[in-house]
Amino acid sequence: MLSVEEARQQMLNTIPVLPTEKREILSSSGYVLAEALHAEENIPPFDNSAMDGYAVRAADVQNASETKPAVLTIVETIAAGYAPTKQVETGQASRIMTGAMMPEGADAVVMQEVTQREGDTVKIFEGIDKTGNVRFTGESVADGQQVMGKGKYLRPPEVSMLASLNRPEATVYRKPTVAIVSTGDELLLLGEPLEPGKIRESNRYGLYAQVEEAGGIPIDMGIAPDDEAEIERIFRAALAKSDALITSGGVSVGEHDFVKSVLERLGEVNFWRVAMKPGKPQAYGISDGKPIFGLPGNPVSSLVVFELFVRPALLKMAGHTELLRPTFKATLTEPITNRDGRVNYMRAILKESNGDYTAETTGPQGSGILHSLVLANGLITIPAGVTLGAGETVDAQFLF
Ligand code: AMP
Ligand code: MG
Repeated sequence: MLSVEEARQQMLNTIPVLPTEKREILSSSGYVLAEALHAEENIPPFDNSAMDGYAVRAADVQNASETKPAVLTIVETIAAGYAPTKQVETGQASRIMTGAMMPEGADAVVMQEVTQREGDTVKIFEGIDKTGNVRFTGESVADGQQVMGKGKYLRPPEVSMLASLNRPEATVYRKPTVAIVSTGDELLLLGEPLEPGKIRESNRYGLYAQVEEAGGIPIDMGIAPDDEAEIERIFRAALAKSDALITSGGVSVGEHDFVKSVLERLGEVNFWRVAMKPGKPQAYGISDGKPIFGLPGNPVSSLVVFELFVRPALLKMAGHTELLRPTFKATLTEPITNRDGRVNYMRAILKESNGDYTAETTGPQGSGILHSLVLANGLITIPAGVTLGAGETVDAQFLF
């Protein structure tokens, strides 16, 4: 049996990064940059004031105080968006607004709060160092400087930066479109009345939300019955319109588990024996360059296997290089025994206290008990065959 880390690495090695596309700046958030971006201008493009106040020569006000203010003659008012027209000479000042261009001759800005205007003059009650309250040309980004590298994830600050760099569009990696199919004769659609033997279908909805959370574009392909020909037809249709396929259920060893045999006909598919709980039976493969994930049907297994395997794969397809959520140590608040020979990913409530984390499990951990995930904000990893006491530490990660 493969460990989670081994299986994940083998799988990730085969995952393709999708081709690039150009995206308009307003729809670029959430994509990964596929080009390095250099500044072609200085930011800011000119020396300007960081305050509303008076542009002065620092030497003129160096001895100014509450009792002995410096008195300067105002030569003009410079508003943001306009260029100064007068030079500031000794004994003079220009009224200046935040973001307005510094006038020649001035080397500092005294903030309005320590001044008093009197007609054409201003009293300055405090000295200021040379360059005080001045924002310099190129101090944020210098002309020619690389600002964002290939692989940079575009969050709101990066989108803002695209605009600062005068880029109306950016070259990014495509987001994967991901088809989702649930299988099982027992599954009811939303709104259908309960009948003996039937249950409400839930995995498709959870997987849809997980694909979105991972930055993919989900495509709902509905429910396939436990019928081999029908499963094959729906899987082929799903692959035809997506970059990746996720199937739920039918991949175990039951008499009606046809997903395996269908997946074998669709491409190069391996049936994994991954040493983890929940979520043992899983299939992974590639069909025509498109990844296929055969997830187990149990609701917790489906969500946890997605989190540990499918999410990093979708991130890689979208151009990310950081694929895994950070892990950290958490202290158990209760004893836990894992008699199984497989690592157990348990659903837990992780709480911060004084810089450390504690972990408390969310009750019954059966792989069908979806409520245990609803109550959790993270997963903790209990190694195979150990008994841990309260106060011992385990690896933990936040979910979603
Ligand atoms: P399977 O992997 O098909 O053998 O299903 C394992 C368990 O998960 C069974 O109890 C199924 O009824 C349940 N199950 C399978 N698919 C879903 C689904 N899409 N939504 C909710 N439960 C499911
Ligand atoms: Mg089934």
